[in-house]
Amino acid sequence: MDIVLYPQILLVGDSGVGKSSLSLRFCDDGRNPPKALTSTIGIDSNTRTIEIDGKLIRLHIWDSSGQEQYRAVNKLGWRGAMGVLLVYDVTDEISFNNIRSWSSDVEKYVQKGVNKILVGNKSDWTDKRAVTEEQARKLANELGINLFMETSAKVNEGVEEVFFRLARGSLPV
Ligand code: GDP
Repeated sequence: MDIVLYPQILLVGDSGVGKSSLSLRFCDDGRNPPKALTSTIGIDSNTRTIEIDGKLIRLHIWDSSGQEQYRAVNKLGWRGAMGVLLVYDVTDEISFNNIRSWSSDVEKYVQKGVNKILVGNKSDWTDKRAVTEEQARKLANELGINLFMETSAKVNEGVEEVFFRLARGSLPV
């Protein structure tokens, strides 16, 4: 097993939906010691090495939340992304409605044809749910997003699966 690939995974979505929590959860649960988040002009990057089909893959997770003033700068860096998670909060309808706008930014700044997953985070918060899975599937279809999944960074549900599925679909063939 000597092939190491370095795909960059980009997380986009409104502030507060749980992007940093998802990234930290995934990277902390990996075999590598957790790496402190380093803040560079509003983009936080974290890494985890995983194995898929006998290949070692070092994922770089880019959390675009950053400070508002750096958003424009951030987006110039989006071209390097090989996979995108569009994240909303299932208890927050506004964050769901804003996915349209995040998606159009992704269309504009990310290379064509990269793997994309729509992620409804905070699925543990059942009594506060404001967005149904059906609504989300419909939106994913409409926006040409490959897949929809729900996660909970808090109770660690679906997190591994979402990153592994994104990574699998993001590898060069
Ligand atoms: P970001 O701004 O998108 O990076 O969001 P954060 O990761 O900073 O999370 C915002 C808030 O939501 C924090 O208080 C988190 O503890 C909380 N949070 C994140 N993920 C979950 C989740 O899956 N379930 C619940 N209940 N809270 C979450």
